[in-house]
Amino acid sequence: MNATFFDGKVSRAHPAQYVRTANAIQIAYTDADAVEHQIEWPLTEARLATWNPAEKTRLQFGPFPHQYLDVETADYNTHFVGDGQLPQPARTGLYEFVLSRGFRGVVIVGVVAVAFLWILYAFGVPVASEQIARQIPAEQEKQLGDMLYRQLETTGQLDADSVQSGRLNQFWRATGIKTRFPIQITVVDNKEVNAFAVPGGRVVVFTGLLKKFKRPEQLVALLAHEAAHVQNRHSLQQLIRSLAAYVIVSVMVGDVSGLTAVLVDNADNLISLSYSRQHEAEADAFAVTQLAGHGIDPMGAVWLMEALPTEGDVIPTLLRSHPHNAERVAATRALAKKSRIRGQPNAALLTLWNQIKRN
Ligand SMILES: [Zn+2]
Repeated sequence: MNATFFDGKVSRAHPAQYVRTANAIQIAYTDADAVEHQIEWPLTEARLATWNPAEKTRLQFGPFPHQYLDVETADYNTHFVGDGQLPQPARTGLYEFVLSRGFRGVVIVGVVAVAFLWILYAFGVPVASEQIARQIPAEQEKQLGDMLYRQLETTGQLDADSVQSGRLNQFWRATGIKTRFPIQITVVDNKEVNAFAVPGGRVVVFTGLLKKFKRPEQLVALLAHEAAHVQNRHSLQQLIRSLAAYVIVSVMVGDVSGLTAVLVDNADNLISLSYSRQHEAEADAFAVTQLAGHGIDPMGAVWLMEALPTEGDVIPTLLRSHPHNAERVAATRALAKKSRIRGQPNAALLTLWNQIKRN
C-alpha cells in the first residue's frame, strides 16, 4: 500500500510502500539519494500520532524525533481498526505541539527560547567566567596579563612616564599593603582620567587621574582598589565576560585553549573594562580595610570617588569602568566610619606624595 515516510532525521517526505503483517509494519522507501531502504516497525511499538497534518492517518515510531508513516485513512480502517488498532501516544510532544499551533506555536517557542537564552546569558556567563578564571593557574594569568600589556604597548596606547612610575611603585610599597600578586604600577602620560588593572599584577594610572587628587589617601585608595581587582581576579573574569560569545562556544566544545588568542586580540578591552557592582563593592571594601589596617584614613576611598564628577560634559573613563553612584559612595563611607580609624599617612608616604604632585 502506498504511503509517505518521514525518517525523523530530515523533514523531507519519502515515497514509501508498506505491508502490515501479523506483528509488524514493513516499510520500503526511497531516500533523497535514490537509495532504497527496508525497515520494520514492531506493531507493539507503533503508535497512532495525535497530530495529523496531511488529512491522512499518521503512524509514529521510535523516540523523538519520531519516524512517521502517513497512510490512507481507508487503508488504516481496513487493515488496523478492529484488528489490534494502534494506541495513541499518551501525550503530544513539544515538536507536535509547535507544529499543530502553526505560526503561533513557532512564535511561542521562539519567545521561550529567547527568554531561556537571556537567562542563561545573564546568570550563566558570570558563573562560567568565574569557573574558567578559577581553572587558569596564577602563573598563566600573569603571562596572559603580560601579553595583553605588551599588546597595548606595541599599539602605542601606553606612553609610560618612567620617573612617575618609579615614584608610584615606591609609594605603593610605602603603604605596606600586601597582595597575593605583586603589584607593578605604570604611570601613563595621558590626559584621560583613567586607571585600570591588568590580570596578573599590573596597574596602569593615567596622569589625567593623578592631577585630580588633592590628598595622598586618595591615591592609596585608588591603588588598593585596583590591586583588589587584580588580587580577586576581577579583571580576568571581566575580560572573559566581555567575550562571552567566545566563552560559550569554547565551553560547549570543551576547549578553552583558544581563549588566550582571542583575549590578546581584544587587549583594548582592558582600558575600559566595566566591572560589576559586586566586584566594585569587593574592591571598595578591600581598599577601606587596607587603608584602615595600615594607619591611613579609610575615608580616602570616599574622597577618591568625590574627586571624580559623575555629571557634566566629560564622564571620566574611570567612572565608566568602575561605575559609582550615591549608593556606592554611601556604602563606602559607612564602612570607613565603622573602622573608626583616623590615621595620617607616614612620613615616607608624604615625601613621595609631594614628589608625585610636584611633577
Ligand atoms: Zn573598580
